[in-house]
Amino acid sequence: MLEDKNNQRTPISQLGEFGLIEHLTKNIKLGQESTVKGIGDDAAVISRQADVVEVVTTDMLVEGVHFDLGYMPLKHLGYKAVIVNLSDVYAMNASPTQITVSLALSNRFPVEAVEELYEGILTACRIYGVDLVGGDTTSSQSGLIISVTALGEAKKDDLVYRNGAKENDLLVVSGDLGGAYLGLQVLERERQVFQVNPNSQPDLDAYTYLIERQLKPEARKDITELLEKLEVKPTAMIDISDGLSSEILHLCKQSGVGCVLYEDKIPLDPQVISTCEEFEMDSTTVALSGGEDYELLMTISMEDFPKIKANPDFTVLGHITEVAAGTQLITRAGQQMELIARGWNSIKED
Ligand code: ADP
Ligand code: MG
Repeated sequence: MLEDKNNQRTPISQLGEFGLIEHLTKNIKLGQESTVKGIGDDAAVISRQADVVEVVTTDMLVEGVHFDLGYMPLKHLGYKAVIVNLSDVYAMNASPTQITVSLALSNRFPVEAVEELYEGILTACRIYGVDLVGGDTTSSQSGLIISVTALGEAKKDDLVYRNGAKENDLLVVSGDLGGAYLGLQVLERERQVFQVNPNSQPDLDAYTYLIERQLKPEARKDITELLEKLEVKPTAMIDISDGLSSEILHLCKQSGVGCVLYEDKIPLDPQVISTCEEFEMDSTTVALSGGEDYELLMTISMEDFPKIKANPDFTVLGHITEVAAGTQLITRAGQQMELIARGWNSIKED
C-alpha cells in the first residue's frame, strides 16, 4: 500500500528533510485563537487565557507493534495517530487545540507515501478543528514511527480526572464496544486469504462497521459537548484504548473504589454479535479486552442520571462500590466474577 494512485515513487532524498517538511506543511492554515506561531520557527507559540489550564498528551505508534501497513492504508494511519491523542484530551473533558507530529521514516517510503499519511493527519486536524503547529522529521533504519503530541485547554473546574469516582456513582460508557478489535480480526483473516489466493475478492459487506472502527476511529468530541449541554460533569473519566476491563480497573484503582459491572448491559453492535458467532469468540471477552474503541468511560453522580437516561449515546453499565467489594462482573446467568485486566493480546489465548 506504499504506492499512490499514480504509482509515483519520488525518493525523499530528492526533496531532502527540509524540502519534505516544507512540501507537507506549506498549505497548513491555522484556526485556533491560541496559536500565536505555528510551523517554521524553533518552537511554536501558544497563548492561553488567564482562567484556562493546558493539557498535554503524547502517543507513539510503531510499525509492526501498533499497526501493519499490510492492511492499514497510510491515510487512515495518519488520521488514527491524531485521533488517539485527541481522545485522551476529550477524556480529560478538555478541548484539543494544537498537535505536533514527529516522524521517523525508512527509505522505503517515497514522498507520495508521506503525502498520504499527511492527508490523513490534516483531515483529522480539519474535522476536529486543531492546528498542526510543529513536529520533527528523521530517518529510521527499520520501519515507520509516528508520534503525535496534542495540546488542549479547559477551565480548571471543568477538568475530569480518573480519580474522582465515588461510591454509588453510575458507571457509564458512550457508544458500543468490541468493534475495533473484531475489525482487526477480519482484516487479518482477509490478508491471510489474499496471501494464499491473490485473486480472491473479499466480501466485506457484513463487516463494514467493524472495519471502520479499526481503520477510522473517531474521538468522542460529541460526547464532551453533549455532557456540557446536559450540564453533567462526570466525577471521573477515561478513554477506552485498551479494553473496558483494563480501563475500569484503572479508574477504580485511582479513585480508591470498587464497582459492579453487569454483563448484559455491555453495549454491542449487531455486527459485533454476528461476527463473534462466526469467529466463535465470546462477545463479552471481546468487549472487555478488545481495545481501540476510543469510547469514553465515565462515572456520574446518581442525581445526574435523569439527564442522561433517555440518551442512546450513553449506557449505564453498573455502579461504583466501596473498595472492599472489589471489581465485580455479574454475568448474564447471575454469577459474580472478579474482573481482571487483560490486554487484547490475551484474547487469542482463551
Ligand atoms: P529544528 O532544527 O529546530 O528541530 P526542524 O528543521 O526540525 O527544526 O523543523 C522546522 C520546522 O518544521 C519546525 O517548526 C518544526 O516544528 C516543523 N516540523 C518538522 N517536522 C515536521 C513534521 N513532520 N510535521 C510538521 N511540522 C514539522
Ligand atoms: Mg527538528
